[in-house]
This record gives sequence, C-alpha cells and structure tokens, in this order.
Amino acid sequence: VLARSFTEPRPSATAVDRARSLLERALGASKVMTDRAQCEPFATDDSDVIAPVPDAVVLASSPEDIARTLEIAQATEVPVTPRLAGTGRTGGAVPLAGGIVLSMMGMAKIKEIDRGERIAVVEPGIITGELHEAVEREGLFYPPDPNSLKMCTIGGNVAENAGGPRAFKYGVTRDYVLGLEAVLMGGTRLRTGRRTAKGVTGYDVTALLTGSEGTLAVFSEATLRLVPKPPEVGTLLALFLDVRAAAEAVAAIVALGLLPRCLELLDRATLDAVRDRGVSVDERAGALLIIEVDGDAHACERGIEQIGEACTQAKALDVLVAQDAAQRARLWSARREMSPAVRALARRKISEDIVVPRRSIAPLLDCVARTSEKTGIRSLTYGHAGDGNLHVNFLWNEPDEIPRVEASIEQLFRDVMSFGGTLSGEHGIGILKAPYLGLEQSDALIDLQVRLKRTFDPKNLLNPGKIFPAAGHRAC
Ligand SMILES: Cc1cc2nc3c(=O)[nH]c(=O)nc-3n(C[C@H](O)[C@H](O)[C@H](O)COP(=O)(O)OP(=O)(O)OC[C@H]3O[C@@H](n4cnc5c(N)ncnc54)[C@H](O)[C@@H]3O)c2cc1C
Repeated sequence: VLARSFTEPRPSATAVDRARSLLERALGASKVMTDRAQCEPFATDDSDVIAPVPDAVVLASSPEDIARTLEIAQATEVPVTPRLAGTGRTGGAVPLAGGIVLSMMGMAKIKEIDRGERIAVVEPGIITGELHEAVEREGLFYPPDPNSLKMCTIGGNVAENAGGPRAFKYGVTRDYVLGLEAVLMGGTRLRTGRRTAKGVTGYDVTALLTGSEGTLAVFSEATLRLVPKPPEVGTLLALFLDVRAAAEAVAAIVALGLLPRCLELLDRATLDAVRDRGVSVDERAGALLIIEVDGDAHACERGIEQIGEACTQAKALDVLVAQDAAQRARLWSARREMSPAVRALARRKISEDIVVPRRSIAPLLDCVARTSEKTGIRSLTYGHAGDGNLHVNFLWNEPDEIPRVEASIEQLFRDVMSFGGTLSGEHGIGILKAPYLGLEQSDALIDLQVRLKRTFDPKNLLNPGKIFPAAGHRAC
C-alpha cells in the first residue's frame, strides 16, 4: 500500500450515531450494516488503498434508498462514498473520511433494451459483461469493454468514464451515455440528458457527471446508446524485436487510415512474465501486438490483409492470423495470462494508465526503463497502443521500497507531461493520483473544478478527498 496521508476529517461520534439511527428508521435495519467486521471490506478496493472502516454501509435497492441516504448524510453532516464492485484502481470507492458507504450492487436490473431506438436503460449495479451478453442477444452492441468487465459495473464505468481495448475504434463510456438519473447531496433526484439520438439542450450535465468519480452526484439509472453488433471479427498477432518496431507498426496502421477495434501492446518484460506462466511466445520477440478488426466479412478480410502488410513492412518477426474461434482464443492467450502473470512477479504492484501521443510510445518506454534502472524498481508495460494509453506497472515486495516506487511514479508522470500526455486514460484520479493533478492542470482549472464541486456539494460530504490535491501535497 502506498503511503498517503488521509487528511479528511472524520465525522463526530454523535453525528455517526444520529445518522445510523436515522438510516435504520428510514430504510430498515436489513439495509444498514454497522457491525465493524461487516463494514471492513468496504474500506478498500482494487487500488489497495486502505481507508478507515466506514461507520455504516447502506445496501440500496432503489432510487428512494439513495435519496434518503443522501438526505440523511446531508442533515447529519456525515460523509458518504458511493460504491459498486470496488474494482477501481485509484481508490475512488474507499471512504477516506469513514462515514457511510453507499453500495448499489443491489440495483442491477436491465430495465429496457429498445432495438428500434438502439438504447438500453439500466440500473448502476449491472455487471458490464452481463449487459454485453444481453444486448448482443438482441443483435446490438455496447462497445466499452474494460478488462474487468466480468466484475465491474456500468455505474462504476460511468463514474470513471471507463475505457478498454475497443476504445480505439469505438471510444469510451462517455460516448455511450445519453442520460442519467442522478441524486444530489440532500436527496434531490434529477434526470439529465436524453433518450433521443440527438439533443443539445442546456449544458451537457450528463457529460460532466460521467467521469466525476462519485464526487458530484449518485447515479440511480443510466440510458446508454447501443450500436449494431458487428457481424465478423478478425484477429491478428504480430511479434516484433522490440517496442520501437511495434510502435512503428502502430503508426503505419494509423497513417493508412485503418481503424482496427483493438491495438494492444505487450512489452518485453510482460512477455517474459507470460512465458514464465507457460505460454509459448517466440523467444526472439521483445514486443507483441494483438490487433482486431470488425465489420462485414469482406471488410475484416481486407483490414487484416492491410494490417498484416503494415506489420511486415515494420519488420515484424512473425504475423499470425486467426482462422477460427479456437485460434482466436489462442492468439489472445498471452494477453489473457498477463494479469495473473504480472501478479505472480511481486507481492505488490501499481498499474498506472497514462496516455501519450502515439509517436511518443517508444521514447516514453525508454524513459521508464531509465527510471527503473535509477530507482531499482522493476517495471513492465502493456496497454492500448492505438490510443497511446499504456499501463506502466511498478512492482515491489517490501514496504521500505515504497519511497522509490513513489519516485518512479512521479518521474513517469513528469515524463508523460513532457511528451504532452495525460495522467489517466481510464482509471481516473481518485486518491492515488490526486497529488499529481497540478502537474497537468493549471491552478485556475483546478480551482474552477473545485468551485463546481462546491455547487453540487457545498459541505464537501460526497466522496471527500478525491481528485483534487490536498494542501501540502508535494507534487503540486
Ligand atoms: C483486473 C482489472 C482490469 C481493469 N481494466 C480496466 C480497463 O481496461 N479499463 C478501465 O477503464 N478500467 C479498468 N479497471 C478499473 C475498474 O474496473 C474501472 O474503474 C471500473 O469502472 C470500476 O467499476 P466498479 O463497479 O468496480 O466501481 P467502484 O470501484 O466501486 O467505484 C468506482 C468509482 O465510482 C463511484 N461510484 C460508484 N457507484 C456510483 C454511483 N452509483 N454514482 C456515482 N458514482 C459512483 C465510486 O465512488 C468510485 O469513485 C480494471 C480493474 C481491474 C481490477
């Protein structure tokens, strides 16, 4: 766990007692957990940040439950942190000030799939992969595909504006959120956005709430845009001597005007980790690209052909094209084994999700290698190369390595800034990246966002401590 000073003030014992009894009266005791052991799992998420154990966990099953909780939180001045599956990687769902955690995993219905209008209306707790299956049964497609899709939820994806491998062609969650039902601190319910294909009425509050990391409002429903399901998918795997050659292939594919749906990169250290798990990958290869195209059969065939040629011209060591579903699964095996393979390398890891212009992928990875050499902290990189969105992972075993991990992260962010990149492509800022926000954004821009936050949440009770640097954060 990275050392972070949690400076958020805890609510008083009197306020907590009052909130607990008001919640139990309003929602019924079965929806309010106050036992410390039951509340403990809600102190952390996939970021490994450990926050105080919440004083209460509300298990909401309706928009009314959410509204009552936010009304009571406001009245008693007890902070409240929205939470879904807890797969977030920046500590967004951990309650830095204790107080109430508001879980909406009990709100997981698909309320509507309208084929004619190509929309789905869903509750926030629906698992993303389950929504994929349901809309695909109707011949439709919901493109955002975070790699956590079997565990994470649409509500969490909307709050983080999640992306995934298919973002290169299809964009990220925000591109598919047409409207939201949201509840404000104090309990006011409102609808933002639309159900229609077009609409520009008023400020785009839906877009503002999407990616707001649970700090502005709590969603109780989302209206999502769907597209027709692509009839065919073609998959190609290309091996390269090093990342530089792979990056050249990516640039060539983009320059040709091709639009594959995925362009995934694994670097040498990641390939070595996968090899250690028994996946056979040509020993000469120091980088691998998995590329997918979709569309009708002719478009797929033509796309695979052109991409294959671009890879060969970029001096690919080998190019393999899947001929059927089984071969496709085999080509994805290195990528699939990656997560457990990386986890097996060290006791702790942090996975950053920076973005750089595509032309800066190779130079950035040179910088990462130099930083690892200097700090002695092992790193490996994979990610969505088509978007320049790379997961740079730092690995360590012992607590005394943490200062060097922190130095590596800060150096990474400074390098990313020097290439004109951004701190986060999909995981959000949460608590882990809050100290570094000032590296990318001006004081004036941060101040504008803090004032927006105050308009939504004047008492700073909704998910306090997230996104914005606290006074004294050293990187700012
Ligand atoms: C193995 C693995 C792979 C991953 N791959 C990807 C990837 O490819 N792309 C990607 O983008 N992310 C990825 N992630 C990160 C994570 O899955 C996403 O951030 C996801 O969107 C979080 O969803 P969740 O349901 O777990 O939300 P949580 O982690 O529970 O919450 C996330 C944020 O949403 C807020 N929130 C929760 N519910 C609501 C609500 N109803 N209203 C308002 N705010 C709310 C929380 O306060 C928190 O800030 C990965 C994580 C893991 C563990």
